[in-house]
Amino acid sequence: MNIAVLSGGVGGARFVRGLVDAVDPSGVTVIGNVGDDLEVLGLHVSPDLDSILYALAGLNDEERGWGRAGETWNALESVADLGGEAWFKLGDRDLGLHLVRTQWLREGEPLSAVTRRLAGALGVEGTVLPATDDRLRTFVQTDAGELSFQDWFVRRGHRDEVTAVRFEGAETARPAPGVLEALGAADLIVIAPSNPFVSIGPVLAVQGIRDAITNRRVPSVAVSPLIAGRAVKGPADRMLSRLAGGTTPLQVTDCYKGLIDALVYDEADGEVDLGAVRPIVTRTLMSDADARRRLAEAALEAAAALR
Ligand code: GDP
Ligand code: CA
Repeated sequence: MNIAVLSGGVGGARFVRGLVDAVDPSGVTVIGNVGDDLEVLGLHVSPDLDSILYALAGLNDEERGWGRAGETWNALESVADLGGEAWFKLGDRDLGLHLVRTQWLREGEPLSAVTRRLAGALGVEGTVLPATDDRLRTFVQTDAGELSFQDWFVRRGHRDEVTAVRFEGAETARPAPGVLEALGAADLIVIAPSNPFVSIGPVLAVQGIRDAITNRRVPSVAVSPLIAGRAVKGPADRMLSRLAGGTTPLQVTDCYKGLIDALVYDEADGEVDLGAVRPIVTRTLMSDADARRRLAEAALEAAAALR
């Protein structure tokens, strides 16, 4: 079975890990957010793609939710001691990947090709693609003015209330090679339990991707990132309240108008009428490998029931 998954970092990576434990990974293509990408210390960092790669390679730090297990921080300490830019946390092992990626990009390889090489070297089964090879960057409007994504998210700890989101470069960004092919060949499209505005939003801001999903001939299922109206981690709940008018499954559904046929959401969110979108109610906390796999299976069952 071919499955195309739209994914951000932490929640998306956890889910995708469960998915490849539930199905043959060779049929899974993950289309990852690049709106968070940034240059740090001269290196190109793709935080969401890396969370996905590390999770699929089994190298991720489960508790932190990002970065690598067994990480050390010597290089960053040295950077801080020297008065360098140290607000974006890069571990020693993680830095190795950023060095390699940056070199390959400078040699002229597109991000999709670089990501494929990294995935191969890490022994990742399944395909990981950036949504686009073109420059696409997320900015948020706040009372403190417009902030670049990581400035808001990491440097300021996403404390500023977001009133609008903008995706620079989205108008001209083309889907990366393989993205439309994966969506076209998919038996099922899944939107991972990621932040709808700043993780999935940038992916859907690529018009070719949005069109392909709008015109799908196969089921599309989203998994809610909220449990009892609250984000497990991060600002998704605050953003939904402000930008979608609430944090029930209905507002999550509204983020994906015309793009999904079913929404998997947590039993703690009760019974909600989602109109034409089928509600699939289950436990959605991905606390361990079994819970992750079961959530992926719930999405697969939802899709099977739609056929
Ligand atoms: P980011 O790019 O690192 O911010 O990660 P994502 O956007 O992919 O994931 C963040 C979202 O994942 C948050 O809104 C969390 O609520 C959600 N999330 C994290 N863990 C879980 C979980 O175990 N279950 C569910 N349903 N959502 C989760
Ligand atoms: Ca992210």
